[in-house]
Amino acid sequence: MVFFLIVDKKATEKINKTVVSKIMPISEITTLGTHNQLLDQQIGSIEKKKSFAKIQLPDQRIESMKKKKSPPNCIFCKKKLDVVILKNISSNGNSYNIHECDQCEIAMLNPFPSDTELAKLYSTGNYRITNGKRFGHIIETLIHLGRIRKRKRINKFVKPGKILDIGCGRGLFLDVMRRGGWDTIGTEFNEETASHAINTYGLKILPGDIAQHKLPAESLDAININQVLEHLKNPDKVLEENHRLLRKGGILIISVPDLRSPQFAIGKKNWAYLDLPFHLFHFTEEGLSELLKKNEFKVKYIKRFSLEMGPFGWLQTLLNISGIRFNLLYDLLKSRELKDGTMETISPWGIIATFLLLPIYFPLAMILSVLEPLIWKRGGSIEIYAEKK
Ligand SMILES: [Zn+2]
Repeated sequence: MVFFLIVDKKATEKINKTVVSKIMPISEITTLGTHNQLLDQQIGSIEKKKSFAKIQLPDQRIESMKKKKSPPNCIFCKKKLDVVILKNISSNGNSYNIHECDQCEIAMLNPFPSDTELAKLYSTGNYRITNGKRFGHIIETLIHLGRIRKRKRINKFVKPGKILDIGCGRGLFLDVMRRGGWDTIGTEFNEETASHAINTYGLKILPGDIAQHKLPAESLDAININQVLEHLKNPDKVLEENHRLLRKGGILIISVPDLRSPQFAIGKKNWAYLDLPFHLFHFTEEGLSELLKKNEFKVKYIKRFSLEMGPFGWLQTLLNISGIRFNLLYDLLKSRELKDGTMETISPWGIIATFLLLPIYFPLAMILSVLEPLIWKRGGSIEIYAEKK
């Protein structure tokens, strides 16, 4: 709507000088679109009405008009995404909406960041690591034990063979898999992170997008995409390429946050795993299962409880709801090096409030994360095992 006002420079200037809303709602004028003649007539008649005082539109109003986000099209089914589930969420100095496709049951970020914006986002903050440690020693150990449990789960579906980890990060998972007899390969966008995985574990890591490397068809037994698919611009293309790379009967393991989880239903914009604007897509269990089926995968198992993701997701969401700075606890748990640059924005009151609320919220988060899969059959983050048909 506003688009038309902006393109039609002459008309915009006239409207900006006149209090149009007193005569007719802005929405009615914007529906005139590019019908310049009609628009001029309307503005002309407005200007002729001497009884209406000419007042400047407040700058704020003009700014908010310009910022209105037109609905994007679903990248999967191309339908216009009129359903807005979250509006005007501020992050990294921008304002974002989340639009959901009721047909695909997958939501997407609007506006969608450009390649340049994405490169800038990933060059700083949460997603940059140089020394390879993201958290303190205890959490790192728990993460390591979680990876070993995951290897056991994967081995139930497929015998050790060749595994690809898309967005392998520091290489923790691949290192664990290799120790269990797997032949490993990874991809990682962040050069610093990739070189850590190469230098520390001697892993084979490919840069950039998996599709650009043209690996041989049906050459893999398993592919892992852990908390990465929601960051990628083209999840559909990635699944298509995964299907080509896996042998028949090979397993694809995808972990994503679930937009249908009680964590999101209660937290909404305070949900710990919303992670705007890094999460370009927000999957649901149904939406991702359907997308896998479309790409000729058979869903074998869905894991809805995660010790790594469940209790922390609830705890952080509850703290966010309480009005403490978004994901403050997560930032406090990060390694010293990662904290640099983010800590100066934190008030001591936020830290005090976090520690006062922990004795209540921690047990509550544990209970909720057990009830979430048990009663509601959902998980803050789900892990889907799908077999190539
Ligand atoms: Zn769709």
